[in-house]
Amino acid sequence: MITKQQREAAVERAAVYLDWAGITLIDGDREKFEIADFGLSDLDNVGMELFTYVNTRRVCARELVLFPFQTCPEHTHKGKRGAAGKEETFRCRRGRVWLYAAGEEKELNPGQQYTVKPGTPHWIRADREGAVLSVFGTRANDANDIFTDPRIVRETVIKG
Ligand code: ZN
Repeated sequence: MITKQQREAAVERAAVYLDWAGITLIDGDREKFEIADFGLSDLDNVGMELFTYVNTRRVCARELVLFPFQTCPEHTHKGKRGAAGKEETFRCRRGRVWLYAAGEEKELNPGQQYTVKPGTPHWIRADREGAVLSVFGTRANDANDIFTDPRIVRETVIKG
């Protein structure tokens, strides 16, 4: 759970990160951010800030902001009715992250990218400056994602 105030503060902070990465936002874009705390109420440590450009039946394009040392927890993308889950390419724009997938640790600096194959558990942690990543994938069905930590709830509850 996050409060409305926490959500607004996180959106403003994420907008500063996108600006840092040279990404322009226009009027109305702030409402499109998703601030996710994964139900753990510890946003600074476990969470992510997502800005979605497009998520159609076939493609998904987003910016992912991670605050300093913030972690997007381990998850796997599951497809519907036996279909392959989302394939996801992360390209680091600014800052640095460690991406863990298929038992390997990848360090991504600006300009470096990595593709997570469907069905592969993965998680990402930002370094001390935080990070901005562009994320390109097939359709996102976030509600179907499977998290390793059973306490996690994908849908963020916003109160107050
Ligand atoms: Zn993912």
